[in-house]
Amino acid sequence: MRLAILSIHSSPMGRAGSKDTGGMSTYLRSLSSALGRKGHQVDLYTRRPNSGRERVENLEANVRLIYPGDGLAELDKNHLFSHCPAVADSIDRFSRLEKINYDFIYSHYWLSGISGRLLKKRWNKPHLIMFHTLARAKNELCPGEKEPQLRLETEAELARDCDLVVTAAESEKRRILNYYNLSIKKTALIPCGIERSVFHPINEKCRLDSKLHKGAQASGKTILAVGRIEPVKGFELLIEAVSLLPSEDDFKVVIIGGEGSGRAPLAALKDKVFDLGLSDRVFFTGVVEHSCLPFYYNAADITVIPSYYESFGLVALESIACGTPVIASPVGGVPELVGQNNAFGCLVKGRDPVSWAAAIRKLYTKSKPIPHTALETGLTPYSWPDAAEKLELALSSL
Ligand code: UDP
Repeated sequence: MRLAILSIHSSPMGRAGSKDTGGMSTYLRSLSSALGRKGHQVDLYTRRPNSGRERVENLEANVRLIYPGDGLAELDKNHLFSHCPAVADSIDRFSRLEKINYDFIYSHYWLSGISGRLLKKRWNKPHLIMFHTLARAKNELCPGEKEPQLRLETEAELARDCDLVVTAAESEKRRILNYYNLSIKKTALIPCGIERSVFHPINEKCRLDSKLHKGAQASGKTILAVGRIEPVKGFELLIEAVSLLPSEDDFKVVIIGGEGSGRAPLAALKDKVFDLGLSDRVFFTGVVEHSCLPFYYNAADITVIPSYYESFGLVALESIACGTPVIASPVGGVPELVGQNNAFGCLVKGRDPVSWAAAIRKLYTKSKPIPHTALETGLTPYSWPDAAEKLELALSSL
């Protein structure tokens, strides 16, 4: 089959952990690759990072990256809305020039959904959408700036007009069914996968070397957090919680990730670290290359994920795959992953720093790499070839 995958606001090849680029990029790269390996033709449409780049790049067998439209690179995500029809025109023109008939259109995030919906009308082909985050959920669950009415309304329309809404977690699927009153047949649950050849435990000696090189401690405990520095990630709770740990505990906190949509969340976190007297315990690394993250996960004793909202929560899966247990809010796909298996860590309900501090202390005092047997059974449902197969199955019913 031929798939047009739309990811207009954020490039699948962008630097994960930086502005607007995170789990969705990892998802798109990995799923496209798995589909390509199964012989499907995948064209990923995204905005061109700079005009010097070729319009079409071959990523790997059967997978291409195509840049529709001009001048999109410089636009802030918040100004892309009015360009979505022109993006659809450009994709349509390209497909006519190349004489391609796509079988399916698969849009990611609401902005691509707008272009995808137009293409559905033009090509008369099924349109799938994955929202990744929903404005309504963000507004209900996260403090701070609210998503605009335009996005709220458009997401509701897109859910109604598309042929299938794909989610990566059961909780997100339930949310979508409930918000938009959809029939369950119009949804498909396709959990994310994990590249086990990249994210895996390393042996004791390498783990110790990793600790020394990655800002972790050889003797004490290292608490890791990974993600774009955005209010939705709730990292302030981690800082408040560690400020309650006994001062004689030998611990260090490493927070990995770049600034999100603005500088304010990072500055606020740094202020909090300073105000709580934690400057010698909490460190911000900025963005770390995705391929280097396994060393950080391996160097850590626990990973803390205090998010208000996740559509899946890849960081939890990556950490566990590296043998490092997590302490997380019960959001996205994390309950399915962690709730089943004590060895994988624990979930903390609510946002009381005292409960989080207690959970962190309990886990890091007994923490050790997750046993291989637990990884083998617990991670079986999370593979990209399986995700590609689930997608094929969902498409076969359209
Ligand atoms: N990530 C990365 N480098 C960083 C920070 C994050 O490669 O400095 C990656 C991380 O490995 C994960 C993704 O960004 O694959 C974040 O995904 P998640 O689902 O946890 O959050 P999202 O970005 O989708 O909100």
